Amino acid sequence: MQRITILGATGSIGVSTLDVVGRHPDRYQVYALTAHARVRELAEQCERFRPEVAVVGSADAAAALSAMLQEKGVSTEVAYGEEALCRVAGAPACDTVMAAIVGAAGLAPTLSAARAGKKVLLANKEALVMSGNLFMEAVQASGATLLPIDSEHNAIFQCMPASYSREPARHGIAKVLLTASGGPFLKRDVATLESVTPEEAVAHPNWVMGRKISVDSATMMNKGLEVIEAHWLFGAAAAQIEVVIHPQSMIHSMVSYVDGSVLAQLGNPDMRTPIAHALAYPERIESGVAAVDLTQIGQLTFHKPDFQRFPCLKLAYDALLAGGTAPAILNAANEVAVQAFLDRRIGFRTIDRVIARVMEALPHGNITDIGALLEQDRRAREVALSAI
Ligand code: NDP
Ligand code: MG
Repeated sequence: MQRITILGATGSIGVSTLDVVGRHPDRYQVYALTAHARVRELAEQCERFRPEVAVVGSADAAAALSAMLQEKGVSTEVAYGEEALCRVAGAPACDTVMAAIVGAAGLAPTLSAARAGKKVLLANKEALVMSGNLFMEAVQASGATLLPIDSEHNAIFQCMPASYSREPARHGIAKVLLTASGGPFLKRDVATLESVTPEEAVAHPNWVMGRKISVDSATMMNKGLEVIEAHWLFGAAAAQIEVVIHPQSMIHSMVSYVDGSVLAQLGNPDMRTPIAHALAYPERIESGVAAVDLTQIGQLTFHKPDFQRFPCLKLAYDALLAGGTAPAILNAANEVAVQAFLDRRIGFRTIDRVIARVMEALPHGNITDIGALLEQDRRAREVALSAI
């Protein structure tokens, strides 16, 4: 029996995780569930999965959750705040942590799980993008198992040798090929992009996801963050990570070997597949996702990304090459700009201009410790807000 903490249980990944967990009550038991503000949804999840602990973002939310649980006759302990998130992520009573909080808010609890040597299922790419080597060192020092949930990285993981050591050359790996759908604006006239609405931007053609990552997919910053994520997870240099536009989202990524072999992982675009893969690894379990019917799909197409249309992808490659705190600055500026766009305070193409401005304004130092990193994150947010 694996005991699981789900950080971000009420989000898109959290709900998909509980769907898979609910199919296998003989294998998985929920230790803790966390949310930020969606208390009603969390109360319903607690009623069904009976976790020992539930964590929310504020004292008010905690009081509301306690009242709802009492009414339902559920005895789950309620806590709130970052310290409580870190506690349930590192608790001795849990084996596996699904890290599915969105954005930098997930860094501290995800790191807590890594430091405690848990099996960490990583969806929260922003945490790894920000903390890079610090995160990977924490995993190594504690002996934690890090398994990627992001569909591309999960696909790459599946296409790599079982004993992979984060040294591509040692395993005859030439490149990793990250596939990207291109999002909702792949074919839209670039001149009209500034005026697209948040509703248009979050309407992803293939995937149903949270609002922030949906906007990131429309700008392709999501792919940019994934390039940086692939660098840390697989030890590949920027030049070994290639983005390929593949609008059908059937191939979730590929690994290209020196002998000319290219291995790909295919599946319907449903996050329950990578979630089930990582939960059960190295075994396989049923996920609720139907098998791919290639004759139905008929055609798979591929082409190169266009940096004019997707300047955020170029900004992310630049940040990876600059190294140090540059990816953390990129991530912070992006989070602030995306929120401003969702709040209708800036236009869509202003997102990349704000990020570029912040990247130019701030020096990129080395990442020495989490305190210094969080200070850079705070500073980048300030500069982004004033640029907006
Ligand atoms: P959602 O916005 O759907 O869910 C986010 C979750 O995090 C919710 O449970 C939310 O709680 C919680 N949360 C939000 N803000 C905070 C905060 N400040 N402190 C603590 N918890 C918070 O996001 P997704 O599920 O789409 O994405 C989650 C992560 O997974 C992201 O990093 C994303 O990049 C990554 N990912 C997602 C994919 C997807 O298909 N959705 C695919 C690949 C990666 P509440 O509901 O109460 O607001
Ligand atoms: Mg992805």
